[in-house]
Amino acid sequence: MNILEFTLNELAGFLKKEFGKGLFHASALYREIYKTGNRDIVNTSEFAASQAFAKALEKRLILAPGQVIESFKENNLIKFITALSDGLKIESVLIPMTGRNTLCVSSQAGCRMGCRFCETGKEGLKRNLAVSEIIGQVFNARFVLKEKIKNIVFMGMGEPFDNFDNVIASIKIMNEQKGFDIALRHITVSTAGVISGIEKLGRLNMKGLRLAVSVNASDDNIRSFLMPVNHACSLQTLKTALKAFPLTRRECFLFEYILIKGLNDSKSDAIKLAEYIHSLPVRLNLIPLNPVIGFNYESPCDDDMQRFSEILSSQGIFVIKRWSKGRSVAAGCGQLGLRC
Ligand code: SF4
Repeated sequence: MNILEFTLNELAGFLKKEFGKGLFHASALYREIYKTGNRDIVNTSEFAASQAFAKALEKRLILAPGQVIESFKENNLIKFITALSDGLKIESVLIPMTGRNTLCVSSQAGCRMGCRFCETGKEGLKRNLAVSEIIGQVFNARFVLKEKIKNIVFMGMGEPFDNFDNVIASIKIMNEQKGFDIALRHITVSTAGVISGIEKLGRLNMKGLRLAVSVNASDDNIRSFLMPVNHACSLQTLKTALKAFPLTRRECFLFEYILIKGLNDSKSDAIKLAEYIHSLPVRLNLIPLNPVIGFNYESPCDDDMQRFSEILSSQGIFVIKRWSKGRSVAAGCGQLGLRC
């Protein structure tokens, strides 16, 4: 088994059941793996007095985060490609943010959602990632690329709610204090708007965990054109699900809106979007479209983006303009898909 599949308590339970050991050895293994990146997991002082146990453990557990086979850099941004054990490849992006690195992780190899502005969507779904393959991306960023990680965003390849159980299990591991110790409020799960996933996450009530929704249009016709998921999960049903989602008073949703020249960037689009958002606690990220092969639209110019943003701000919406990073290495939003 891959040791990156276990929360601390699950690992303690496994050691108890298989070897009659428990939390002491599980904590030692966790510390070695997640704090120091030691791959020789049983070669530590805690195991010195019990070599027979260490050898037996080595036969049952492996530490396999996937192999980083390539990386690309644009300024401080790094996109890296990981080869999985079955030969599939996934991409992750490390985004520098004033000393607080954010790691954008993939939850699936490919994706079935088919969003038009996204390279990953064109591949279709290959398969869900295992918990260890999600955690492996964090492990490799931390110990192969040697970067500290403060924030995690599930905005890489895949729709996280299509791999719900493994995404939630991996978040619990990232959050372990004796492991990576990444606070839930520093972890964002981004969905294309899968209502059943939003409802399921709401029922888990994981306080602090952040929810982002890729919105991209203020009317159903344009949204259905851009994102086929909208046929089943319209803007109105999305809004109803978000209103029922348990947020604390200080929390808000993150909405992502990719601005596409001549399609969703007009003054009336901005006004309709403000109306849609108005009764929801939302922070809105505006992102200019990144070039994607086969999607023949352009991003708006800076002035048009600014105008769009001002209309929303004047309606009391909290807007952040995200100037695209990583375009030159195909690491921008919607560009992950192994074509660089
Ligand atoms: S934008 Fe996200 S949900 Fe849509 S196709 Fe791409 S990876 Fe899938």
